[in-house]
Amino acid sequence: MKHIFTIVILFLGLTAGLTCEEGMFPLSEIHKLDLNARGIEVAAPELYNPSGVSLVDGIINLGGCTASFVSADGLILTNYHCAFGAVQSLTSTENDYLRDGFTAAAPGAELPARRYSAWLIESYRDVSREVLAVVLPGMGHAARSKAIEEKIKKMEVDVEKARPGRRAEVAEMFRGKTYVLFVYTNIKDVRLVYAPPRAIGEFGGETDNWAWPRHTGDFALMRAYVAPDGSPADYSPGNVPFRPRRHFQLSSAGVREGDRVFALGYPGSTHRHKSSHYLAYEEEVALPYQIELGRWIIELKERLSLEGRDTAIKLSASLQGLWNNVKRSEGQLKGLRDLKLAARRRGQEQELQKFIQADPLRRRKYGELFARLDAAYAEARCRARRDQALASLVSGRVSTLLGNAFRVCEASYERPKPDTQREEAYMDRNFERSERQMTMALRDYSEPAERAVIREMLRRAASLPAGESIAAVRALAGGDDPGQALDGFLDKALAATRMKDPAVVSAWLKTPQAELRSRGYADDPFLRLAFALYPDYREMKEAEKRQKGVLDPLLAQLVDVKKEFLGTDFIPDANGTLRLTYGRVRGYSPADAVEMTPFTTLKGIVEKGAANPGNEDFAVPRRLAELAAAGELGAYAHPALNDVPVAMLYDMDTTGGNSGSPVFNARGELVGLNFDRVYEATINDFAWDESYSRSIGVDARFILWSLDKFSNAKRLLAEMGIR
Ligand code: ASP
Repeated sequence: MKHIFTIVILFLGLTAGLTCEEGMFPLSEIHKLDLNARGIEVAAPELYNPSGVSLVDGIINLGGCTASFVSADGLILTNYHCAFGAVQSLTSTENDYLRDGFTAAAPGAELPARRYSAWLIESYRDVSREVLAVVLPGMGHAARSKAIEEKIKKMEVDVEKARPGRRAEVAEMFRGKTYVLFVYTNIKDVRLVYAPPRAIGEFGGETDNWAWPRHTGDFALMRAYVAPDGSPADYSPGNVPFRPRRHFQLSSAGVREGDRVFALGYPGSTHRHKSSHYLAYEEEVALPYQIELGRWIIELKERLSLEGRDTAIKLSASLQGLWNNVKRSEGQLKGLRDLKLAARRRGQEQELQKFIQADPLRRRKYGELFARLDAAYAEARCRARRDQALASLVSGRVSTLLGNAFRVCEASYERPKPDTQREEAYMDRNFERSERQMTMALRDYSEPAERAVIREMLRRAASLPAGESIAAVRALAGGDDPGQALDGFLDKALAATRMKDPAVVSAWLKTPQAELRSRGYADDPFLRLAFALYPDYREMKEAEKRQKGVLDPLLAQLVDVKKEFLGTDFIPDANGTLRLTYGRVRGYSPADAVEMTPFTTLKGIVEKGAANPGNEDFAVPRRLAELAAAGELGAYAHPALNDVPVAMLYDMDTTGGNSGSPVFNARGELVGLNFDRVYEATINDFAWDESYSRSIGVDARFILWSLDKFSNAKRLLAEMGIR
């Protein structure tokens, strides 16, 4: 009995853990929570109320980040790193907003952030039964996942057709088991209003990323615009500020150590309900590959950035993303190894297997579960090296030219299909966005970086062992000297290609395949390579769908049997849908005898600057240093610290996508802005634990201080209702 009890605790600690503070609660769970018992004074209907106005009405899904409204005129607060794409694309050597920051002097000076859109939740509905109804007895694995995929696409398209200006997304909550249809208002005109200089918005740079103590003023302001009649519309100078149903006022009331806090946001993905096989695959296959490749590209792009400010600006957004991912992956790999997570989860699965074996009915239902998972992951491992090489070759995140060429090639196969049978990117509802991503990527085109990256990806693919080789690559890099062959190809291809021109890319993307061929466009060297890679790529995609078709029902079974074993319910893994999380302002101890306290201050910025002379990551803006020296704290000091608090730590359960989530105190006042986790907490995507799971937010007092004292942004402060 005691044994079972220990196992149950072990499971809960790693999965549901309702007794601790783990949990990213979906909207459907909020009303079940006793918030008062958790020290939160806001009642559940104030948080979420489908028939009235609630905090949720002020929360925005900002394309992979979270944001919130902070004025009645659609002013949006989010992280600097979330607005970075806009700041970077608007920056030039003449208008260096990265270096100097940006404050729109008047509404007319707010600048369009073209890749951004703001989604506001309107409704959600469980559609599991409708989705799973398409699964027929005897269906093959690939057919199963294709049928579900198509059904989901149809539901999304139907909603969007019936309700223009809306975005519909069916989210898989528990893999292969539950599905929820979310409908969002889709605001497409978003503009940049304020960004601090990078030396504040990213103070500490990569040195401090994913780390504590932290002194980063990771915040920016944007604004949502709509057509004069209030409907969502594309950017137009005639658009007017959107009037949200709910907005928040930044509070200088602040929080102290031990205070309760909560956040609403759009956490991207966690993997706490997956099996040990997944953890082992991440540890042994996926993460080491991502880290090694990411580091290689970083080293290249950092070297090239030294050659001039223009190149540095162009490569800055991609470098920022690469560093963020690589460091997170390294933290996760370390966590997986140090905590022996895969082995621990395997131990739990062995206990589950015993539980299954102990009952004939369970044996019938779940008897094959773990054997099948073993087989599915064994196949994935066999394919891994080749799939990784192929995926890197065609990814627009690795090479813009080859990535774009590949999209043009794939579009020519996908566009003739009925809309809901196409791959996502080529569906009518996504096509314009895909096109914009491709053409905007060319704005940051750097030939030396492209050349080196393509060469390296081809070289790596060419060195795959014979049984795994890729025909198109073999044809290019054949012969005695693959390096020379690749150089020869790139010399000619880069000179001849027309794919550096955004207008050409746009036009070709919409050109039918027969015409691409008859007009000779398909002879463009990169397009030719893309067409040659396509059959292998298609085969990989089919295998992916088959794998999903195998895994979905198995993971659904895993959740079912775990529920039976533990006699409890779970919260689904994060999946980019709106979640509530709560916790306390709290320090932590990352190592023996090391105690981290939960606030950093203005003084700390100046100290870090002085301790790192000549290090660009810690270059303190002169004005900030002067204000700090003069003790210009305004009304924003933390009473006990006698200084402006810059960042704070809390034990809420967050992940990527929670970036930009407003942090509320127990009374529901906006006291901070979530932006990161500590290094040890990168592992909480796989397993949360109260000892190491700490997230980091900018203190609202520092945001207000920066707008007031540093930037003198009186117009914006007045709009936000501050004095
Ligand atoms: N800073 C993080 C990110 O960019 C947020 C997090 O993962 O906690 O993904």
